[in-house]
Amino acid sequence: MLQKIIRLILENHTIIIHRHVRPDPDALGAQHGLATIIQESFPEKRVYTVGEEDMRLQFIGKSDEIPDEVYQDALVLILDTANRERISDERYTLGKMRVKIDHHPTRDTYAEVVWVDATYAATSEMIYQLYIEAKPYGFRLSQNSAEKIFAGIIGDTGRFLFPSTTKRTFETAMGLLQTGMRTTPIYDRLYETDMSILRLNGYIMQNFERVSKEVLVVRITKEVLDKFGLEPIDASNTTNEIGNLHGVKAWVTFIEESKGIRVRLRSKGPIVSDLAAEYHGGGHKLASGATIDSWDTAKELVAKLIRICDTYCKTD
Ligand code: AMP
Repeated sequence: MLQKIIRLILENHTIIIHRHVRPDPDALGAQHGLATIIQESFPEKRVYTVGEEDMRLQFIGKSDEIPDEVYQDALVLILDTANRERISDERYTLGKMRVKIDHHPTRDTYAEVVWVDATYAATSEMIYQLYIEAKPYGFRLSQNSAEKIFAGIIGDTGRFLFPSTTKRTFETAMGLLQTGMRTTPIYDRLYETDMSILRLNGYIMQNFERVSKEVLVVRITKEVLDKFGLEPIDASNTTNEIGNLHGVKAWVTFIEESKGIRVRLRSKGPIVSDLAAEYHGGGHKLASGATIDSWDTAKELVAKLIRICDTYCKTD
């Protein structure tokens, strides 16, 4: 599959790279890392990145504004996106062919060519693997592209902390470091935060609820967001510190948005992705999300999470 994708990249002159909405460092690292690799290796190609921006992550890369006509003869690569509803910029359908590259478990096959492998810690790690396989065909990895890929891996592994981190992840980091890139500026940019977000984290630490021995709940209502002068998107990177509380197996954060309530599930063992899927969400086994319609549904979801953790602890 990888060889097929490399061939498609080599054969196409115009390449447009998409990723998911509400981009995180992995989505952007994979997108801009791959775009930079292709553009620097083949300057004659026209390579574009699209999707709505997150100001705080613009240091990884900025999107291009392109007219619809560019899609006519373009190869479209869609990265880090499990299902079509989450693809940022719906014009991906206009391209002449689509390729999906993702490390989330398969939910939707929206592309003609698919490389999905949930054993990778990050889609950015897959992009490095693509580069390794493509090296004999003239693909080059610069310090610039390595930094983007590294940012993606750091984001999705929580600085090599999450259990998704493998020997391959560290080998990838080693390969990236061999370009001469420096890690400190990336860490500084990724973890730089605003006063209001720090204050919100303080609120979370003070106000989370322990609904059972194993389960914690955080509710970030519109009122709370207003109090800190924040938008729902700002709560995308709030602290996971509460998960360190002794005995805790899983925690859920609810964030009230203009339409619905966003659910962010995290676990230290029990599988939570099936619960997210029950509410039309998805993600990884231990880190997933969904959007629900009401606080009553939130209550129901919490009850189910308690049962999941209970069963897990009895059988563990
Ligand atoms: P987050 O809590 O937003 O950091 O998301 C954790 C994981 O769940 C990520 O891998 C997301 O791709 C996935 N995820 C979050 N929200 C949704 C959703 N509404 N539908 C599908 N997957 C989601």
